Amino acid sequence: MRRAVCPGSFDPVTLGHLDIVGRASAIYDEVTVAVLVNKKKSSLFTVEERIELLREVTAHYGNVVVDSFHGLLVDYCRTKDIPVIVKGLRAISDFDYELQMAQMNHGLAGVETLFMTTNPLYSFLSSSLVKEVATYGGDVSGLVPPHVHTVLLERLARV
Ligand code: ADP
Repeated sequence: MRRAVCPGSFDPVTLGHLDIVGRASAIYDEVTVAVLVNKKKSSLFTVEERIELLREVTAHYGNVVVDSFHGLLVDYCRTKDIPVIVKGLRAISDFDYELQMAQMNHGLAGVETLFMTTNPLYSFLSSSLVKEVATYGGDVSGLVPPHVHTVLLERLARV
């Protein structure tokens, strides 16, 4: 079975993430969306909430599973027998860091990284930008799945 992982914070999942996950699911037999547990970084949604949202919006693909991990991604890959990491590349600004990570992960454990160029519709899109724009009342309904939009507005109204 050909497996790949799409790692990230997904706080919350956006249409940019889904675009990459969906395209990866057409290439691989099984795609794991792995939510990074990072206690040092504050987040709007808990890991459990992010996982639940991801499960809802990826259910229709049929071959996408959602999980979480902490520590090194390559250790997670080794445990789950996943040889490939799939990442979306938005702009040249993503490239430097992603290149370093990919080379490090290959050097550490022989795990390959496949880069997909982002759909131009979402090349400016990140979870942080969505949260920032929504905080100030901007319309982000076209950037996240409908249910994510609803829970995002509810959560922001409470914080
Ligand atoms: P962000 O807060 O920037 O959305 P994440 O850590 O949640 O960051 O993103 C996880 C991964 O998803 C990124 O490393 C990138 O590979 C991919 N990704 C995120 N947003 C997009 C997008 N708009 N287009 C393509 N890929 C994306």
